[in-house]
Formats: sequence, structure tokens, C-alpha cells
Amino acid sequence: MNKTTHKVVEIEELTPETFVLRVERNNFEFIPGQYVILRMPDEHIAREYSIYSGITDQYLEFLIREIPAGEFSRYLRHLTPETTLEVEGPNGFFVPDERTMKGTPSFFIATGTGISPFHSIIRSHRSINYQILHGVKFADEAYGRQSFNPQQYTLCTSRGEQGDYFGRVSSYLREHPVQPDVICYLCGNSEMINEVTDILEGFGLPPENIRTEVFF
Ligand SMILES: Cc1cc2nc3c(=O)[nH]c(=O)nc-3n(C[C@H](O)[C@H](O)[C@H](O)COP(=O)(O)OP(=O)(O)OC[C@H]3O[C@@H](n4cnc5c(N)ncnc54)[C@H](O)[C@@H]3O)c2cc1C
Repeated sequence: MNKTTHKVVEIEELTPETFVLRVERNNFEFIPGQYVILRMPDEHIAREYSIYSGITDQYLEFLIREIPAGEFSRYLRHLTPETTLEVEGPNGFFVPDERTMKGTPSFFIATGTGISPFHSIIRSHRSINYQILHGVKFADEAYGRQSFNPQQYTLCTSRGEQGDYFGRVSSYLREHPVQPDVICYLCGNSEMINEVTDILEGFGLPPENIRTEVFF
């Protein structure tokens, strides 16, 4: 397994809970959609994080939610510039498939920080024929929205009415059926992924058109 050490450049706060961790790239190569394992130097504690930045971006970035009782995300939140972090990877197969790369309509469905791999994919491949559905509680959690074409992005807010749709992504999908030939990519918590998979199967999508990455 490929392991490299990277210096922290900065922590950019997006909301009180969520931040972008920016580290030196050091020529790190990856396929957009992949994740890495971040590890404290000389420690056993490590966690997986999807890559948020694009393949041509100068730095390697991660979009992270600080979990109040969580050991590792709290550690990352308080890293200071110049400290180092071990990066293991890249790992994973949650990458745009050949059909998506050739222009087949693709639907990226995320909750919370699950938007991260899609942010990397779109920053890297702007000509993909995509729509994004992003589910959050409040509109200030529309992480990285400026990287997406507004015509191709729908924000679902479940607790505030400032988004494009008031409600969860599952409610949106029940009201807006998806054609069976669309390739759907789901990323976020397992509850959303299970619920949305059932809905998409109900619309007649075959298993090869439902691709998933579970964060927790
Ligand atoms: C393939 C993969 C990619 C991942 N990518 C990301 C990413 O890009 N950004 C990110 O923030 N996390 C990501 N995670 C989750 C991450 O690995 C950690 O689990 C998370 O940071 C919590 O670690 P912790 O030690 O702080 O808390 P822990 O004590 O390990 O976890 C506490 C609890 O927090 C909840 N939780 C975990 N992750 C999240 C989250 N993102 N949002 C809300 N609640 C959560 C779960 O219920 C978990 O049981 C990913 C996980 C996997 C498997």
C-alpha cells in the first residue's frame, strides 16, 4: 500500500462543524471519487476520507465534519500548518464508470460530506453529463456548491427552507422519478443509501446503474 507524508497547509472552516483540510499535494495521483486513509504519524489511529479536490488542483483537499465525540475528526480539526499527516492510498472504486465518462446521464446523490467525491469528479471532469442532488439540514451546508453548474445542482434542506427543495433527498426522489437508464451514484450515510436504493429499484433501475459509497 502506498503511504506518503504530507504537510498541512491550512484548515478552512466552512461551517462551525465542517472544514476543508488542505495538505501539500506532493505529486499524489488519484482517480476522482477515490478515498484515502489519513493517519496520525506514528499512531495506529486512522480513518478513511474521500478526496475533495480535483486532479489538476494544486493541493490535496478533504471535506470533513467534526464529530463532537469523534476522536479522529476532532484531531484533524485542530491540526496547524506545517504539521504532518500520513496519507495511505488512493483506495476505492467509487469512480465515474466508462458510461458516465462517455456522456450517459449520471445522477450524483449525496448527504452531508458525501458530496466530497462528486466535488472531486466535477472539478476534474467538467463535461460529464450530470445532475447533483445534495441533502443537508440547512442551506449553509451546501459545501462546494460554487464548483457545480447551478442548472445541474439541487439542494434539499430538511430543517430550513432556504434550499431548492424543502425535505430529504428521499422525498425529492419520490416526487421526481428517475429514468431506468440513468446511472446513479449514492454517497453518504447508510440509512440514506438503503432508502434511496429501494426507491431507485422501484423506478426500475438495474443494479449496475446504482453505485454506492457508505461513509458510516
Ligand atoms: C470510504 C469512506 C470515506 C469517507 N469520507 C469522509 C469524508 O470525506 N468526510 C468525512 O467527514 N467523513 C468521511 N468518512 C467518515 C470518516 O472515516 C470518519 O468515520 C469520521 O470522520 C468520524 O471519525 P471520528 O474518529 O471523528 O469519530 P468516530 O468515533 O469514528 O465516529 C463517530 C460517529 O460519527 C458518525 N459519523 C461518521 N462520519 C460522519 C460524517 N461524515 N458526517 C456525520 N456523521 C458522521 C457515525 O455515526 C460514527 O459512528 C468516510 C468513511 C468512509 C468509510
